[in-house]
Amino acid sequence: MRKAVNLNLFKGFVIGRDSVVISHLQYADDTLCIGEASVENLWTLKAILRGFEMTSGLKVNFWKSGLSGVNVSPTFLEMACTFLNCRIGSIPFKYLGLPIGANPKRLATWEPLLEHLRGRLGSWRNKHISLGGRIVMINAVLNAIPIFYLSFMKMPVTVRKLVVRIQREFLWGGVRGGNKINWVKWSVVCKKKCNGGLGVRDVRIVNLSLLAKWRWRFLQPGRPLWKVVLMAKYGNHISQEVDWSGVRIPIVASNWWKDICSLDKAVESKNWLADSIGRKLGNGLDTKFWTTKWMGNAPLALLFPRLFSLSNHKEGMVADFSEVVGEARVWSFSWRRVLFRWEEDLVVRLREILAPTIFSFESDKWVWILEEEGIFSVNSAYNFLLEEFDLDIVLDSDGREVLEHIWHSPAPSKVIAFSWQLLLDRIPTRGNLVLRGIPLSDVPWECVGCAGKMETSIHLFLFCPAAMLVWSEIFKWLGVLVIIPPSLSSLFEVMWGLSNNKKIRKGYLMIWHATLWSIWKVRNASLFVNGSFNPKGIAEDIKILSWKWSLARVKMSPCMFYEWTWDPGDCLRR
Ligand SMILES: [Zn+2]
Repeated sequence: MRKAVNLNLFKGFVIGRDSVVISHLQYADDTLCIGEASVENLWTLKAILRGFEMTSGLKVNFWKSGLSGVNVSPTFLEMACTFLNCRIGSIPFKYLGLPIGANPKRLATWEPLLEHLRGRLGSWRNKHISLGGRIVMINAVLNAIPIFYLSFMKMPVTVRKLVVRIQREFLWGGVRGGNKINWVKWSVVCKKKCNGGLGVRDVRIVNLSLLAKWRWRFLQPGRPLWKVVLMAKYGNHISQEVDWSGVRIPIVASNWWKDICSLDKAVESKNWLADSIGRKLGNGLDTKFWTTKWMGNAPLALLFPRLFSLSNHKEGMVADFSEVVGEARVWSFSWRRVLFRWEEDLVVRLREILAPTIFSFESDKWVWILEEEGIFSVNSAYNFLLEEFDLDIVLDSDGREVLEHIWHSPAPSKVIAFSWQLLLDRIPTRGNLVLRGIPLSDVPWECVGCAGKMETSIHLFLFCPAAMLVWSEIFKWLGVLVIIPPSLSSLFEVMWGLSNNKKIRKGYLMIWHATLWSIWKVRNASLFVNGSFNPKGIAEDIKILSWKWSLARVKMSPCMFYEWTWDPGDCLRR
């Protein structure tokens, strides 16, 4: 094929100013021939394919071969297909699993990805999986095949909303469809646990981070074909510069390219990509002195515009400005004219900035500032963007700390998730339902435990006389004296502070979870089954529950239930 191109028998597709010619691409079993729609090309192609069959003894599978035309008349295409004995191919077509020529802005392009998500998550929908398990699964499914899509195309808002809906329904779906109300905002769910979220991966940010990897790849040394093609089409700056804000995007640029360019603007207040990539100086042979940011926090041309305009070497490399005189290196400049006094002062300042420069024998290279080793990682980009987009404040810093600590507990993840929802005050208490305009039958707002009080989270779990009785039973059992604090998170902190012993502390916090969980269970039971509120009975339930959890999940030597009820601290200490 290459020979045919050299002999001018096959005219490939010409790209950009540097006239890069693409005639064929090969990967594994797939071969893609690209060229002008001309009769000559068809003859050459037929001859090459025939020659291939005769020399290799293999046969070209004409049913699996297709010919597609871009801006080619249908009659020519039909004729060409008859001539080559193949099908008329359609665009988009699949190459290496990616839809080629598909418009990323169209929903249809994303349908396979949505199907994949629905299929993978849907099959688990009705099974018993704890919330913790669901979080792991959502992230795992997202990390699998769709990544392929997400690193090539920017997801449109409509598609993102559909993806989030699938994820959300799976997360909150519960057993047999369960509770469908999305009590917590998705942006909060996507926060890290240490910031009060559930740590579910945000598909939009995953998408941006994967696309950002291209920008890093452009800057790496070497000239693979794909990069040569892009440079021919969009300019050499893509492999040399980080800040593209001054570069015009051609109108004819592909959607993919526009998305890659728009990454700069993903964060509103700054060019996060330019800020995240730095230049590490080696021998200074490959770094532009004025226009690359290599010293200080901006290119020197921006810091010293006057000097830049006077320089005779605007395109010079760092090494060109440095001379070795005796033992020392000195900076030397050449100006278009003699400098004024105040311009000389600028040079003094410039020299001050340059003073700490250290040269080495290595070549200059780009470093990814967000990662210690200086090499781009999707994860570091993700974490950075997540912080940048983090606009919803979840509680104050004390509250956030509690939200983080609740996860370090041997309680089952569904219980912890409930405590999490409760601390955010996003559980369906009557007060919350009324607040959301959901109609209730009979006594619409009253607490089940006492008449005349609105059932809010804080009342139901802390200040309701019934709840207070439960807590006092628990404190009696633990042998501690606690004055009920103003909030559930401060109660958590109080119980945290009750012991210096790590194991005991962990046990106490597990009991905190068990108490909240049990109060909620009883509340639901008396609400729907008409049971009665019996603090002593609830306290017994809490003892059984926490004993079971401790046996299953705490690394302590097993204790008998009567030992646990007698002195849980003693059991935990073992
Ligand atoms: Zn009450």
